[in-house]
Amino acid sequence: MDQSYITNHLAEKRDQYFQAVAPPIIQSSNFAFKSVHQMRESIKDELNVPLYTRGCNPTVAILRKKIAALAGGEDALVLSSGSAAVSAAVTAQVSAGDHIICVAHPYGWTNKLLDITLKRFNVSTTFVDSTATENFKNAIQTNTKLIILESPNSITFELQNIKAVAALAKANNITTIIDNSYASPIYQKPLQMGIDISVHSATKYLSGHSDLVAGVIISSKAHIRKIFQGEFMTFGAAISPNDAWLMLRSLRTLAIRMEHITKNTEHVVSYLKSHPKVEKMYYPFDKNNPQYALARQQMKAAPGLFSIQIKANNIAEVEQFVDALKLFHLAVSWGGYESLVFPLCVLTTSENYSFSTRPFNLIRFSIGLDNPEELIKDLDNAFGKID
Ligand SMILES: *Cc1c(COP(=O)(O)O)cnc(C)c1O
Repeated sequence: MDQSYITNHLAEKRDQYFQAVAPPIIQSSNFAFKSVHQMRESIKDELNVPLYTRGCNPTVAILRKKIAALAGGEDALVLSSGSAAVSAAVTAQVSAGDHIICVAHPYGWTNKLLDITLKRFNVSTTFVDSTATENFKNAIQTNTKLIILESPNSITFELQNIKAVAALAKANNITTIIDNSYASPIYQKPLQMGIDISVHSATKYLSGHSDLVAGVIISSKAHIRKIFQGEFMTFGAAISPNDAWLMLRSLRTLAIRMEHITKNTEHVVSYLKSHPKVEKMYYPFDKNNPQYALARQQMKAAPGLFSIQIKANNIAEVEQFVDALKLFHLAVSWGGYESLVFPLCVLTTSENYSFSTRPFNLIRFSIGLDNPEELIKDLDNAFGKID
């Protein structure tokens, strides 16, 4: 299905709302019925019939159809955060005594779900260096039920060979989930590569304006129904109709935002690559990336997120550089219209931080819709401060 058709037309039932071009926000928690029979029938299909907004809301329903189509899945769920999406999708796959294989250093709260919460319920996880498919193979146990991917990682950008890991999992009757937040459905379609379930933090590119927190799960009808009837409804992390409407609006410009962000990022990356103060570049589409060929093969393009290590003698110099930046907001998150900087050294006091995995001079950037020439001037000025 054509991408612009999906974002502009699919699932919009304008006949039902005065031919309004923008869909209505159905700000209602529940829905009334004309007869007991009609209500009874609706309760049977709470996923698809508006009965109660935690389960199905008409504004959210439009969004679900568009998200599913964009990702090439049969159905989708929209939740109140990306972490809610990961938690519901993962927990639905496992029971006490089961084993999970996950990429090393996944998103922080995914790590906590596996390493703290699920561990309490006797679900164990092996974290593997995901750059070699055989590491997944070697980690498989008789009780392995799930493999969790994140390609690429959102700080150091290691990739997995998605097709190969998906095939390995299928051959061993193991379900696969990928966190596809980085690439968005515009740049990577894991379901078409054999992955069972794709999740995104929709807070990032799908929403793109840093004004809402949301998550999505895309999969087959069967997987979605299972997650819906269990963890989606019991955890109850539904998105509000208003936030769903904002995301619908964001989807109209998703493709052009991605395209523009990619161009801006290429510009900034090529400046940084040739800068004498840059020690190392972490960007999937950097030709020196050992996984460059794989990145090209799996992803249509690279969006605005990348990291560098700067040549600095100590944390104080890193702080000087970052504090001197004016156009980049010093903030967490990414994927919005604005450009961001996130130096990993802000985590040095946190108990789960280890220098061995994340060097002190590692700095992540998210490039937004700023003029790249202005961003480069800003970077140039900041590098001047650590000469
Ligand atoms: C932000 C993020 C999440 C969590 O999403 P929220 O919307 O913040 O809950 C999950 N995975 C990745 C890769 C992220 O960057």
